[in-house]
Amino acid sequence: VAFDQKDGWIWFNGSFVPWKDAKVHVLTHGLHYGSGVFEGERAYGGKIFKLREHTERLFKSAEILDFQIPYTLQEIDDACQATLAKNGLVDGYLRPIAWRGSEMMGVSAQKNRINVAIAAWEWPSYFSPAERLKGIRLTFAKYRRPDPQTAPSLAKASGLYMICTISKHEAERRGYADALMLDWEGNVAEATGANIFFVKDGVIHTPLADRFLNGITRQTVIDLAKARGYEVVERRISPDELPTFSECWLCGTAAEVTPVSEIDEFRFTPGKITETLMNDYTAAVQPAEQKIAANA
Ligand code: PMP
Repeated sequence: VAFDQKDGWIWFNGSFVPWKDAKVHVLTHGLHYGSGVFEGERAYGGKIFKLREHTERLFKSAEILDFQIPYTLQEIDDACQATLAKNGLVDGYLRPIAWRGSEMMGVSAQKNRINVAIAAWEWPSYFSPAERLKGIRLTFAKYRRPDPQTAPSLAKASGLYMICTISKHEAERRGYADALMLDWEGNVAEATGANIFFVKDGVIHTPLADRFLNGITRQTVIDLAKARGYEVVERRISPDELPTFSECWLCGTAAEVTPVSEIDEFRFTPGKITETLMNDYTAAVQPAEQKIAANA
């Protein structure tokens, strides 16, 4: 069944509509001019991990695109939690999205309604479990991440994802799981929907997230690594350094922590640090026993 024909409910501008009826007009500004921002969240055991952080980023992305979401942070948090419950999900993926509507046509959209929708569905693992264990294969993308002076690179903006789709399609055509994108200066940036980490001599290295999406999972993984006593260095990483790294993984809300075995001709072996952080992340996202007990 096509994704838009599923059963379920979508929160659409303040109320629930049947999944199949959650439609927009063809003259929607967001479709023509890319004026949309969105989030990707996961719920574990009925609780959305880092919900407020995601909602804050949604509002921040909207602000970067020069629009205001017509709800409060708490209203969006509550709507996300309600969407999960309405669809009978305990573990699931959530997709809040805000976009300019179809009330005016043209680049200028001063009077267009700001629409907000939230969908939730089951999304077990972004990469197949078999791939996850032995590590996924990446290839370099044709396009680079744009300079923040050229595009709103720090926003999770729909329009930026055309680069990701082109890159991911090309990678998949050539038998790879995903594409690794460089920044406009040629440094390692991120995958099409996840951030990247490397290990060299027991030290963790990851690109500085001042020019692409600073993933909430990335920030969580850095905290978990530091809590384990690992040194984490955030810096510019040249692709020339790839042969010097022993381990590599991607992380993101959908991808969680996924080991990488290859980036084109370079090889990595998922090792102790990758495994430790995969396990620590799995533990971190679960609602704590004591929290459940306290709420009971
Ligand atoms: N980079 C890109 C391009 C992404 O789409 C995502 C997924 N939202 C990430 C990084 C990881 O972000 P997060 O950990 O907040 O999901």
